[in-house]
Amino acid sequence: MKESRFREREKGRRGEGEMRRGEDGERRREDGETRERGDGETRREQGDDPSHSHSHHSNGAALPPVSASPHRHISPSPLLPARESPRLLISHTPSLTHRPSKRLGQNFLSDSRTIDRIIQALDPKSDETIIEIGPGRGALTAQLVENAGAVVAIEFDRNLIAGLLKRFGSSRNFKIVQSDALITDFCFEIKPAIQARLVANLPYNISTAILQRLIEQRSCLTEVVLMLQREVVERITAPPGSTDRGYLSIVVEAYCQTEKLFDVPPGAFRPIPKVWSSVIRLKVRPRIAVAVKDEALLWQVVSAGFAQRRKTILNNLRSAPPRLQDLIKLHGGASIVLCQAEVDLRRRAETLTVEEWARITQLIE
Ligand code: SAM
Repeated sequence: MKESRFREREKGRRGEGEMRRGEDGERRREDGETRERGDGETRREQGDDPSHSHSHHSNGAALPPVSASPHRHISPSPLLPARESPRLLISHTPSLTHRPSKRLGQNFLSDSRTIDRIIQALDPKSDETIIEIGPGRGALTAQLVENAGAVVAIEFDRNLIAGLLKRFGSSRNFKIVQSDALITDFCFEIKPAIQARLVANLPYNISTAILQRLIEQRSCLTEVVLMLQREVVERITAPPGSTDRGYLSIVVEAYCQTEKLFDVPPGAFRPIPKVWSSVIRLKVRPRIAVAVKDEALLWQVVSAGFAQRRKTILNNLRSAPPRLQDLIKLHGGASIVLCQAEVDLRRRAETLTVEEWARITQLIE
């Protein structure tokens, strides 16, 4: 249900944006996400796609265990270590009939230097499994298949599947799953492996939702190398006090160590997007960075704290959802809880550290 919290939060932000006309960078950034690769295309709401609908929950923030995957496996051969693969090299020529879809954020990597830099950052090993979200025409996949023990590629666009199978289908370490990564059970798809690393040049219009999905499935992910819109990377890595800091920054910081690697100009893609991209490494922490008993409650507190960015943390907690307000009142009210957590009542949510959010939560658990 951490998934739901993210999505609720994202939906909430869109709603708030409308209410808080003209307010701060949140709204601007969302516009940025809409623009990012869509060239004027409207941001794809998860609700647009029926396959996403079952992921919408309305309760707390604890990540649920994921069930067996219902997706279409198109696996011509069992996953074997790379050394047993025939390593067939097939022409890189993209399909002449496939037209890039704006809706699916299809800006394919065409700059070989950028491709090499991403692969070097990942450094796939012959004894590990690598998941790739959105292999597209195989720009990254080719080197993954060559170097990794097993490659599990998750591609939503069925029109790309034949081309991918033509290029990599004879490699025994390659498996393709035609599915929506937002609802794919990664832990199931990587079997018999129990952990994997993941790489993706993400469709930016769903980048926040994918991040949510990755964090939900962190039990089988050790590291993630992602290409994202530069602004999203700035949000993820924003330190306390930065206006870019928001709910997403806190969630990612709590579960991962982040490292921004490098920027990528629009010219590295075809078609050329309107914005710059950045590559980021997320190392999944073995456990959440702060000691809270109830992680779902932590995410409710953070969500309430960021509800209206112009308001102080005190005022936001005073107008928290009823269940949370009841808990806070039970412990003396918002100002008492904040004082006990040693958080100045006049501060705004973006100035708080993950530890301070945790202290507030611990006091009402
Ligand atoms: N990896 C390729 C590259 O770097 O050239 C393609 C990257 S392109 C930006 C994004 C890819 O993600 C496309 O192939 C697109 O079809 C795929 N995609 C979009 N939405 C998806 C989803 N929900 N699940 C899985 N793949 C998705």
